[in-house]
Amino acid sequence: MAVRTLTDLLADGVEGRGVLVRSDLNVPLEGSTITDAGRIVASAPTITKLVEAGAKVIVTAHLGRPKGEPDPALSLAPVATRLSQELGRNVQLAGDVVGSDALARAEGLTDGDVLLLENIRFDPRETSKDDAERAQLAAALVELVGDDGAFVSDGFGVVHRKQASVYDVAKALPAYAGDLVATEVDVLAKIAGDDAQHPYAVVLGGSKVSDKLAVIEALAPKVDTLVIGGGMAFTFIKAQGSAVGDSLLQEDMIDTCKDLLDRFGDVIHLPHDVVVADKFAPDASTTIVNTADGFDEGMGLDIGPGTVERFATVLTGAKTVFWNGPSGVFEFEKFAAGTRGVAEAIAQATANGAFSVVGGGDSAAAVRALGLADEAFSHISTGGGASLEYLEGKELPGLSVLEVKP
Ligand code: ADP
Ligand code: MG
Repeated sequence: MAVRTLTDLLADGVEGRGVLVRSDLNVPLEGSTITDAGRIVASAPTITKLVEAGAKVIVTAHLGRPKGEPDPALSLAPVATRLSQELGRNVQLAGDVVGSDALARAEGLTDGDVLLLENIRFDPRETSKDDAERAQLAAALVELVGDDGAFVSDGFGVVHRKQASVYDVAKALPAYAGDLVATEVDVLAKIAGDDAQHPYAVVLGGSKVSDKLAVIEALAPKVDTLVIGGGMAFTFIKAQGSAVGDSLLQEDMIDTCKDLLDRFGDVIHLPHDVVVADKFAPDASTTIVNTADGFDEGMGLDIGPGTVERFATVLTGAKTVFWNGPSGVFEFEKFAAGTRGVAEAIAQATANGAFSVVGGGDSAAAVRALGLADEAFSHISTGGGASLEYLEGKELPGLSVLEVKP
């Protein structure tokens, strides 16, 4: 896919021009404390390049899910403070999205200044299904950067959304892919393409089979091994005929899992043992159960030690690894061993020269919660839903809108 990039924009020259950057600054908050600034850190390089080239940078982003109206609890104020630290320069925060304060501040910008607009989802037009409403918000954003302005799409986590600040504004201004979007697309193209190095192993986990169905369909034919852990494994185990007690189960997916096992049984590896807990709690009592024997009571909250060892052997020997979804309820220390074992095996493979990609918000959080360094993996994707949709081969509106027709 041919897109214009930040490099092209910088070559065109941005000194004195207004440049609107859509970033993904949707960080987890506890009160007004940012608990994981990963997305802010990842967004800084593109902004820095524009600042250093003398652009008047206006950043737009969302935080959480406000209901289309201002919500002080979801103000970008803590993000502005953290972004200022990351950039090493003051970031002004507008008091509104495209209102009088944003306009006045935009007009007052001098070269190299950075203005962050208030949470774009405070404006209901951002996520409207009505094309005209979204176009209206996009036009107001264009007004902020002026007639010779440009748009840089750098929020990979939102490129699968047809929203005003992602899609419509890219139609209204000369549009470029920022460094983060360009990197994510390069990495995912490697994983999705036919020239990935083998052995190629995929690790899936997390809660729902239904969330990961399309990615199984897309990747199973391309990989050597697809190991499945987490809550989603129990629907597969049930499909094989074993009882799974009160484990996470999607009854309506059992037939689908049977069909996947029929077609891809040679690549799909399921847990042969699991950690069964008497309750969903950090202090639950646990037993290790062989999945072939099944169990009538309790819930499986992690893959068992035998499975961790088998999965680790496969993963350590791989040359390409994609990991999405924790292998167990890693949030509770008692059920974190599976996820830790998988993560460490992928880190080992990476140290041996493999190309490894972690996708999925909770998987990325697990890496950090388990104290593993980001550098232990080749790439940690900032976009959970977007990276899955890319791998599924779906069209992402925020990317296709950047495409330059030959
Ligand atoms: P990601 O965001 O990486 O795509 P998901 O959102 O699909 O991952 O799933 C993450 C959640 O799955 C975690 O909160 C984790 O606790 C949960 N999970 C993993 N294994 C189990 C299990 N055996 N039973 C219930 N929940 C599980
Ligand atoms: Mg998740």
